Amino acid sequence: MDKKLFEIIACPLCKGDLKYRKDEAELVCRPCGLAYPIRDDIPVMLDNEARTLTVDERLDGGETPASSPEGDAAGEGSA
Ligand SMILES: [Zn+2]
Repeated sequence: MDKKLFEIIACPLCKGDLKYRKDEAELVCRPCGLAYPIRDDIPVMLDNEARTLTVDERLDGGETPASSPEGDAAGEGSA
């Protein structure tokens, strides 16, 4: 799975960042409350294919306080 791919993919609705959930094989947009499926390693960026997040999933963490966007060496590290 190419993580770089997910970094350039934005939500088609709000153009916001998506959160990759490896366990679910989904790309989650929390502002929209939608989870886009990944099929055969291909993200399906269609809102009519997306799953609506449950309340629990919306509340569920997702925040990553350890790594802030600024000051983070964006993946330029080990290959
Ligand atoms: Zn969105």
